Amino acid sequence: MTPSTAQVLALTRELVQFNTINPPGAEHDCASHLGRMLQDAGFTVSYHAFADKRTSLIATIGGRQTKPPICFTGHLDVVPLGAAAWKHDPFAAETDGDRVFGRGVTDMKSGIAAFTIAAMRLAPYLQDKPGLTLVLTASEEVGCEGAKYLAQAGLLERAGAIVVAEPTANFPFVGHKGLIWVELEAKGKTAHASMPEQGENAILKMSSVIDDLSRFNWKHYCGVDCHHVMGKPSMNIATIHGGLNTNSVPDSVKVTVDMRTVPGIDHEQLCRAIESVIGDRAKLRKIVETPPLYTEPDEWVSRIFAAAAPYCDTVPTPDNPRTIMFSTDGADLRRGYQARGNGTVPTVILGPGQPELAHQTDEWCSISRTEQAVALFDQIMRDWNDL
Ligand SMILES: [Zn+2]
Repeated sequence: MTPSTAQVLALTRELVQFNTINPPGAEHDCASHLGRMLQDAGFTVSYHAFADKRTSLIATIGGRQTKPPICFTGHLDVVPLGAAAWKHDPFAAETDGDRVFGRGVTDMKSGIAAFTIAAMRLAPYLQDKPGLTLVLTASEEVGCEGAKYLAQAGLLERAGAIVVAEPTANFPFVGHKGLIWVELEAKGKTAHASMPEQGENAILKMSSVIDDLSRFNWKHYCGVDCHHVMGKPSMNIATIHGGLNTNSVPDSVKVTVDMRTVPGIDHEQLCRAIESVIGDRAKLRKIVETPPLYTEPDEWVSRIFAAAAPYCDTVPTPDNPRTIMFSTDGADLRRGYQARGNGTVPTVILGPGQPELAHQTDEWCSISRTEQAVALFDQIMRDWNDL
């Protein structure tokens, strides 16, 4: 193992050893650990907690030129372990050959380790350059809460491009669908089940709502029903809870709906459209939303593709860009940066984790891919800063 590989492996293992399972999250100690390292390397570090111990951090270096810094981002939280037993201690970060095991190692502590190591090595050369800004967020796994907080509180200042180091096996993706969850609640009037005409059945009401939603016409209501790369938006009726006992007319039903949207669909307009479909049969409550993210390959993206090509199983090309299935903090961060007058901020999703291992039992990451990500991130950082 080269000294460089040993260094990124050591940081990956340190990060896995912080238990940041969300809920409850508790990213504070992990954020402080990274913050101290980055501060020692010359970065200006600020901490921003949206709740007790729910700490995100922003570390910046350079940034004194007209050209803004490039942003690298990753989330500190990880998902719960699941019901199945693990063969490897999920917080010991054990290694076996090219693999390092642990909860969150692929999604996405290896990605954070890779860009943090690359950033610290370049730090001495970045003081008078456009620079770097590293955004390490809390609570991505529960509705991108940390990223939303940073964006809404106006804490995101300058960035000219974003690299989201989520697990992509080092293949650069140019976006993902948006996500919006809503809850619909139908109310009725309870009565004895032997006299249903005395009541108002909330389940029957909701079933007619679901029936109408199953025919929802995206083109008619949102103006868009397909994206040239992402394909079609989707709507899934995900959960339904209603009724209390079999011998009563149910007076309340709640349904949750998961929708995945494509660029051009405005989530507020979508909610109003659903309200117009359901009328007075049910009430809509928005639970969580992340906008769609897409960057049409430009010159910068093309350079990312060229830089990543040696490390990818299939060669990325600007005329055949790809988007990923899961959503990321990138959408809220880009919205936040654009709201601060940064213009259009091209964004790619690119990191060393294996996407198919995210959230799995015995999650692992390839050590050699993580080292490749350090080299790749170094190249992207140098390219942005003319080094
Ligand atoms: Zn993730």
